[in-house]
Amino acid sequence: MSAPAVAHDAACIFCKIIKGEIPSFKLIETPLTFSFLDIQPTAEAHALIIPKYHGAKLHNVPDEYLADILPVTKKLVKAIGFDVDGPEGEGYNILQNNGRIAHQVVDHVHFHLIPKRDEKTGLIVGWPTEETDFEKLGALHKKILANLEKQ
Ligand code: AMP
Ligand code: ZN
Repeated sequence: MSAPAVAHDAACIFCKIIKGEIPSFKLIETPLTFSFLDIQPTAEAHALIIPKYHGAKLHNVPDEYLADILPVTKKLVKAIGFDVDGPEGEGYNILQNNGRIAHQVVDHVHFHLIPKRDEKTGLIVGWPTEETDFEKLGALHKKILANLEKQ
């Protein structure tokens, strides 16, 4: 395998954390991934998992970095020490925001691991829905498939 591409932004707070120029409560580190506790948690043990590659949005990051992130996230879920396997077990959300309108504040891709233990803490989701419209869905489906062909 060839050496991974590396991108770094000296002004980026998460690049600084990766380099150890800013302290963090580091959790798992691999050659491609870094993870640490969020310092303004929305729930206890809210963690961030980031590629060691500076890309602002998901589509800016090479696949090999993205492929490393979910196994690290899975390990962290098991280490957080909460009951996720029982029928009434606690839950968790994996959240990854892209763009200001989508609530992204730090422009270095990051995955939030957010425990959901109760109604009040953790992620609270607003999810407006439309009525099912098969005609509209069919046209959209065609358009996306055509775009995929071009990639
Ligand atoms: P987002 O809104 O998806 O961009 O989330 C950015 C997250 O980064 C927020 O949850 C912040 O609390 C977190 N954050 C910002 N600076 C730091 C830092 N120095 N150490 C840990 N977490 C941070
Ligand atoms: Zn960065």
